[in-house]
Parts: sequence; structure tokens; C-alpha cells
Amino acid sequence: MLELQNKVLERIAKGEPLAATLEALCLLVEIRLPGVKCSVLRVENGRLHPLAAPSLPHSYSQALDNLEVGPAAGSCGTAAFYGVPVIVTDIATDGRWAAYRDLALPLGLLACWSTPVISAGRVIATFALYFQECRRPDDRDKEIIETCTHLCAIAIERDERVRERERLTYTDALTGEANRARFNEVLEELQNANRAFGLLLADIDNLKLVNDTFGHGAGDALIRTIARRIASVVPPERTFRLGGDEFAVILDGGGMEELAACGDAILRAVKRPAQCDKHVVFPSMTAGGAVAGDGDPRQNADVALYHGKSRHRGQFTAYYPGMGTALTRRFRAIRDVGIALAERRIEAHYQPIVRLDTGEVVGFEALCRMRTSAGETVAAAHFHEAMLDGEIALQLTERMLDMVTSDMRRWLDLGLPLQHVGINLSAADFHTGNIRAKLDEHLIGKGVPLDHVILEVTESVYLGPRDHTVGDEIRALREQGLRVALDDFGTGYASLTHLLTVPVDIIKIDKSFVDRLISEEPGAAIVEGLIGIAHRLGIKVVAEGIETEEQASHLLAMGCILGQGFVYSRAVGFDAATELLRTRGQKPDDAGENNRPPLRHDRLSRAL
Ligand code: C2E
Ligand code: CA
Ligand code: CA
Repeated sequence: MLELQNKVLERIAKGEPLAATLEALCLLVEIRLPGVKCSVLRVENGRLHPLAAPSLPHSYSQALDNLEVGPAAGSCGTAAFYGVPVIVTDIATDGRWAAYRDLALPLGLLACWSTPVISAGRVIATFALYFQECRRPDDRDKEIIETCTHLCAIAIERDERVRERERLTYTDALTGEANRARFNEVLEELQNANRAFGLLLADIDNLKLVNDTFGHGAGDALIRTIARRIASVVPPERTFRLGGDEFAVILDGGGMEELAACGDAILRAVKRPAQCDKHVVFPSMTAGGAVAGDGDPRQNADVALYHGKSRHRGQFTAYYPGMGTALTRRFRAIRDVGIALAERRIEAHYQPIVRLDTGEVVGFEALCRMRTSAGETVAAAHFHEAMLDGEIALQLTERMLDMVTSDMRRWLDLGLPLQHVGINLSAADFHTGNIRAKLDEHLIGKGVPLDHVILEVTESVYLGPRDHTVGDEIRALREQGLRVALDDFGTGYASLTHLLTVPVDIIKIDKSFVDRLISEEPGAAIVEGLIGIAHRLGIKVVAEGIETEEQASHLLAMGCILGQGFVYSRAVGFDAATELLRTRGQKPDDAGENNRPPLRHDRLSRAL
């Protein structure tokens, strides 16, 4: 017996699979008790499941699988039910075998003694010996049974501990859903098996805001609620919490249509108000999805999610090939500009704004330029995607304000006829940037009078999200004495009605209109009408992107006095800009003379 015991314990210690260890145990017993056949059944939730029975036919074990324990459920089912050994010496006549004897007798099994394996007061298995003769146990048999049930208990307990540890390594503690480790495994299995599947990645919108406002207890409650809601609309064991606010769902089979439907169902389920730690929160998630087949689905779903977060919050975005290229470009631009900002390789250049009739320089537009490490100068158009990133946009405005106000102070100190410089702002400046404080700091700090500054706001920012932030800020800035220009006018949907509710001082007609001035009748009519209306509203007009003298004279004939474009000058550095002011700057003296007939529009340019 000692030898048997050592052999089995050695297998347990080596961590061999439970079934293999128990089969070895059975075989070792069968050598010692000729004619016996052993079986070990696991007991789980009141049902039997075969663990090992190497010498019994497979069909017999199968027949016992999932059998409910009970007062007359053969030897094992009865032993498990009462938690005591059941010695059946004659299966043919014993009432406890009434329902099962037709399974055993044809195999020549005549007696069966079963002993419960007990752990912490709970029956976890049964250990049974079958005989091809009617017999009852003697002392030696009893000793073998006792040793074996003990070994079974050790082996099964250890297996349960290992399984529990595995369960924990694969379970997210907060939600009880599968975690990232499990997600990685499932994904790998599906990919290795070349199976069709859809992958959805989803982020909770504004979780940080919930944490910051209501505390982490509320944030955790929100995560738990969302996990439950996702799991309620997804097949079992297909919801994963990857960490933080990130969830994943894997759908076996199916294409993008199924995935999108699942995505919509999840987002709908998530959207209901949720009670989170005494606060009612209105949760929302953004999801992106990709199906296996075209590249790495995880990366593609990630790309789709990222896209969704910047454009379609609260919705499902499906990946399409090529989606990544646009993103990569943007990522690269963000990274490049970030580094350039840190290394102070962002510079301010100045494009003159010119009186179309006299060619005098009345002001500048400040445009940022990136100097590459190789020494080249790159125009903003090549990296403007980086400015969609809020953090970069704020840093850029700050840097430009710093440089531009310093340059302006120098021009004023040189006594040059500087009228105004336009500074481009981004959406982030209005929403998170505290732009007024920043302007105060730089303008007052460097002693630049406010009326020398024009803030350029693009149509897309001006129309921005449907809140009042931008409009309120623009009103406040104008009340302080700063002027605001509506940039790229005509590219978006800014209408004259908008101009009445949130007035601006200047409209900059986009280059696309200037381009069509000569070739297209409607384009010209629109510009002419716009100039007329703007004048009546007291709004000045500047034409952008003038590239030919012909365009300039057309604009002039329509009553547009001011413009900028390559035909006059590209954006130039500080020294060249200084030279422009010196040689072509509109002299203050002209201002006096400028009270002349409106045809020459001098007052207009002067007023600007
Ligand atoms: P924008 O504000 O409309 O600036 C005018 C752009 O048109 C400038 O390009 C300028 O160089 C270009 N341009 C001027 N005249 C002509 C012309 O005759 N022909 C052509 N083809 N182009 C002309 P840039 O400097 O590459 O800037 C592109 C955009 O990047 C700007 O459009 C603006 O939206 C943004 N940007 C530039 N500097 C800044 C900045 O300091 N801050 C922010 N937030 N955005 C900036
Ligand atoms: Ca501009
Ligand atoms: Ca523009």
C-alpha cells in the first residue's frame, strides 16, 4: 500500500492532470485486487461526472455522466447522496440498483462498493470498486479503500485549488467578467484555428469625470453596472473587461453586420440611467469593431474605436481598410508637433494683409511653422491634423501667443506702422483653454494694446458643438476690445443668421471662393453679395489665398479692399516681416488723409 500511495502522491506533487493521476490510482489498485474494476466520479451540484475508470467500458462511464445523486442511485449516487459508504454485494437484487442494473449486469458487474470522498464536510467524489462476483469487503479491502479515498481527496482538492487560481488569473476582480489575460487567450485560440469572429472594443465615455466628481466608489459602481449590461446582451463568456474603462466583446462567426447590431444593442443597453453610489449617472460608451480576415482584428478594432472617439462618441464605428492610414498620419503629426514644441522648433511667420488698391501692408496673419531637425521649414498645412489634438492645440496657441506678442512689442518699439496681427485659435482654446486669461497674460505682460490683435476663429469652431461656450467667449473677447475674424468663411455652414447672433468684426473669405471668382459666375455673385452684406453689418472682409493680379482686381471691383495671398507675399520670418512693415507698411499719416470718398475704401482698411 505504501508503494501505491507514494506513486500517486508523486504524480500529485508533479502537478499531473487530475484524470491521469486518478487513472493511475485505479490501475495500481486493480493490480493489487485481481478481478476488480475501479472508478472515480466527481460530485458537483448534486450530479456525478466520471473522472477515471480505465477498465470500465467508455459507454458505461458515459451513461453515468450527469446522473443525479439520490437515495437509490446505484452505489455511487447513493453514497454521494448520504455521504456514507454503500456496499452493494448483489447488484441483481439490491433495490438501490433497480434503475441501473441493466447497465451493469450485461458487463458482468455483480457487486459494487462505493465510498464518498469528503473534503471540508462536502462530498466531492466517489471511489468505487466493481466485482464480477458477489462479495463483501474484508479488512485488506477496507484498508485499500481508505487509502484510496484519502488519495482521491488530496488529488481533487489540489486540482480545485489550481482551477480556482486559474479562474482568478482570468477574472476581473471588480466585475467578475473575464479579464485581459483571458481575452488574449481566447483571441489567440480563435486566430490559430482560423475561425471567423468579430471583435468589438468599447470605452466608457467620461469615466474620469465620474471618478473626479462623485469619487472612485461611484466610478467602480458604474464599471460594474456597465459590465452587467454588456453581459446581458452578449453570449455567455464573451464579455471581457480589459482594464480601466475598456471592455471587449468577441462574437463567434458572423460578419460586420452582426457585429454592428451587437454593438448597437450594447450601447443601447448601457445608455439607461444608472444608480452609482447614491448618484444617478447617464452612462455612455463608444465602440469600434473589426472582423477577422483583413489584417489584425485587434489593431483594426482599436483604430475604429479611436476614430469613433474623435468623431462619433456614444456610437459604434466599423473598421474599414484604409482607416488606419488617416490615423497614422494624424498620430505622426501629433508626435512630431509635440516634439517640435518641446524642442522649441515651432516658429511664428507672418503673411502680410495688404490693401488691394495700394499694395500697402496693413497687418499680418501669424502662421506657425515647424523647423525640422534637418533645418527645413514646414508649413502648418502639413501638420494641421495635429491641432485636432486638444493638448497640442493648447500648447501651440500658448507658444504662438508668446512669440507673436514679443515680436509685436519689438515692432512697436521700433516705431513701425504696425496695425494688427491675426492669431489663429483652435476649438480647444475655447473649451478647455481659458483663452481670456492667456491673452491677458501675454498682451498685458508684454504691453501690447488689445486693439493690435485679431483672433482668427474658423467656421468649424465658430459653429462648434451646440453649446454656448464659443459664442459666449467671442462676445466676452470683443467686449474687452479684441477683434475676432471668422476664418475660412464659406467652407462650412456659417450663415448670416449666425453672424447676427454671434457677431464678428471680420470675415475672411476662403481661398476656394477666390479660386472660383473668375471661372464661375455663381461664385462671383456670392462673394459680391457677401461683401455687400458684410459692409452693411459693419463687418470687414479679407480675401484669402489671392494668387493672381486678376483675382485681386476682381475683388477690388467688387468692393473687397483687403486680401492676402502669394501674389503679395508668403508668410515670412520676423526680419523679412520687419522689412515689409518698414517699406510697405501703411503709414499713420495716411490715416488722416483717409477720410476720403468711400470709393477708395480707405476708411475701411484704416478701421481694420
Ligand atoms: P489659415 O488660417 O486659413 O491660413 C492661411 C493658409 O493659407 C496658410 O497656410 C497660408 O500659408 C496659406 N496661403 C496664404 N496665401 C495663399 C495663397 O495665395 N495660395 C495658397 N495656396 N495658400 C495660401 P498654412 O500656414 O500652411 O496654414 C494652414 C492652416 O493651419 C491655417 O489655415 C490655420 O488653420 C492653421 N494654422 C496655421 N498657423 C496656426 C497657428 O498658429 N495656430 C493654429 N491654431 N492654427 C494655425
Ligand atoms: Ca487663419
Ligand atoms: Ca483661412
